[in-house]
Amino acid sequence: MAHELPPLPYPSDALEPHIDKATMEIHHGKHHKAYVDNLNKALAGNAALEAKSICDLIKDLASVPENIRGPVRNNGGGHWNHSFFWKTIGPKAGGAPTGKLAEAINSAFGSFADFQAKFEAGGVGRFGSGWVWLVSNNGKLEIVSTANQDNPCMGKAIAGCEGKPLLGCDVWEHAYYLKYQNRRADYLKAFWNVVNWNEVAKNF
Ligand code: MN
Repeated sequence: MAHELPPLPYPSDALEPHIDKATMEIHHGKHHKAYVDNLNKALAGNAALEAKSICDLIKDLASVPENIRGPVRNNGGGHWNHSFFWKTIGPKAGGAPTGKLAEAINSAFGSFADFQAKFEAGGVGRFGSGWVWLVSNNGKLEIVSTANQDNPCMGKAIAGCEGKPLLGCDVWEHAYYLKYQNRRADYLKAFWNVVNWNEVAKNF
């Protein structure tokens, strides 16, 4: 079955003023849609790969034939990353994590503020396009960053890092340029207002 663009779980203006409506419309309706369309194009005719879930597909890129591995990595990664991203942000969100997740963050990074500073630095430090992630790597919380549409699930050999993503922030210019222009650091600060910690806790 062909991969499908999931609907945004909230209206495109729901994250205003932190993430603007036009950015959300283009980001979801054009960018994410293009990843889905191009992934389907790359997989067309390969029934075994078409039958795999997006998660299984990007976890095992080694099994993808070399002639389509690049497009599957980029567009499959793009599809997974954005599907995940829309769920971990939302309206009436922000604040701080609670419970076991809060304890794990404090224990790994010292405090929530220290975690935020390190996550923001990871996003600002990603040269060009990519993502910054909070992952659980065999139970240990870490902040990692990936280039382009790579994802920690792809594994160290491909993505340069590993672990189960709990939270991710898209730092491609298309995620913030209309509102923040070159100010990626301001976008990362605003991001905390839309993080859905309940969803992050579920991933944990
Ligand atoms: Mn994006």
